[in-house]
Amino acid sequence: MRSDSPKRIRRYPLFYIEKGNNMSQRINVLYQKKPCYDIVITRDFNGLTEELELLQLTGKKIAIITDTQVGPIYSQEVKELLLPLSEQVSIFEMPAGEANKTLDTVKSIYTFLIQEGFGRKDLLIALGGGVVGDVTGYAAATYMRGIDFIQMPTTLLSQNDSSIGGKTGVDFDGYKNMVGAFKMPRLVYMNLNVLTTLDDRQYFSGFAEVMKHGLIKDSAFYTWLIENMYEICERDLDILEEMIFRSCNIKKTVVEKDPTEQGDRALLNFGHTIGHAIEKYMNFELTHGECISLGAVAAAFISWKRNLISMEDYYEVRDMYVPFYLPISIDHIEPKEILQLTKSDKKAEGKKIKFILLKRIGKAVIDDTVTDAEILDAINEIYFNEEEDACE
Ligand code: NAD
Ligand code: ZN
Repeated sequence: MRSDSPKRIRRYPLFYIEKGNNMSQRINVLYQKKPCYDIVITRDFNGLTEELELLQLTGKKIAIITDTQVGPIYSQEVKELLLPLSEQVSIFEMPAGEANKTLDTVKSIYTFLIQEGFGRKDLLIALGGGVVGDVTGYAAATYMRGIDFIQMPTTLLSQNDSSIGGKTGVDFDGYKNMVGAFKMPRLVYMNLNVLTTLDDRQYFSGFAEVMKHGLIKDSAFYTWLIENMYEICERDLDILEEMIFRSCNIKKTVVEKDPTEQGDRALLNFGHTIGHAIEKYMNFELTHGECISLGAVAAAFISWKRNLISMEDYYEVRDMYVPFYLPISIDHIEPKEILQLTKSDKKAEGKKIKFILLKRIGKAVIDDTVTDAEILDAINEIYFNEEEDACE
């Protein structure tokens, strides 16, 4: 643990808004320096109707776009809440999983919307994880040249990361997020209680992006995560609320400054160059967060080798993923093939890869001088080679 770590710092004021027995928190996100949408962090779905009234999104047709896993648990409850203020509420269930984050799914959403008579003034709601959010957002950006949409994220990953910032899109030919658009949601509404039905693997997968936010922008948050490890693993809702609130604030600050990734927003890609390559190499058998944890360890390794962070910091970062059941090494890979795949990642501009390194814990930098040899070295660092280990 870092010795300079202050205990239980609260760096952000917590704004509580009374709603019945429930407490919620609200963060406003600016787009081009103007208030654009609110993130509402709460513990049930009940406040949604009031939010829609405030946004004058009543009297419309609403399509709840969800997936085959989330839909059966939550879509009826949301539909019943919305019925009194809508002209019609329809539900579309896409098959769950990254393999369905495709243009084919977007096409089936267009077909559904046409059949249900949706016009440009109607509303889509993404009820699900990052996959549903990315696909729905892209459908919303393109259907009839753009239709309003709301994010209702249901995974830890989507609540603290993917539902914020307006990046939408799908994978193409196995390449991550190759086709996409920027489309700001009208609202991000999250019910933290839905995290209780998420399986352990998906829950911990989402933690990889929480860690990323601490590592790239906020060392006090990173320290707080270490200090609250047990409560986070136990899904203590009070701790989760603070964690998600702080994580959303970090993402908000970054996307407000650079909404279309001309500069600093690229810092959010920490761990993603090698992470995305592994995701493709493994044919999406690992979750996004698992790949990002491997990619982050590799990026931290390069940062250490360049004397940007100390050896102690590197090992601490690496070992921080372990209690959250996230991988820090991987077997049965071909490191050179992973290196090759990093070059086809969207984050490679021309021939140069825009690599994100840690200058120190809590501060990331963009670097386009990372060499193939350094990347290969880092992939070898996370490569658990059973045969070699057996010989030692
Ligand atoms: P996911 O959407 O595939 O959800 C994971 C699994 O959990 C799915 O099977 C889903 O059906 C299930 N699930 C979701 N919520 C549940 C709940 N409350 N209870 C039970 N089961 C539930 O995966 P994810 O990790 O949420 O998102 C990953 C995606 O997000 C990737 O495609 C990644 O590229 C994308 N992403 C996008 C951005 C962005 O800025 N747009 C940022 C980060 C990640
Ligand atoms: Zn990610």
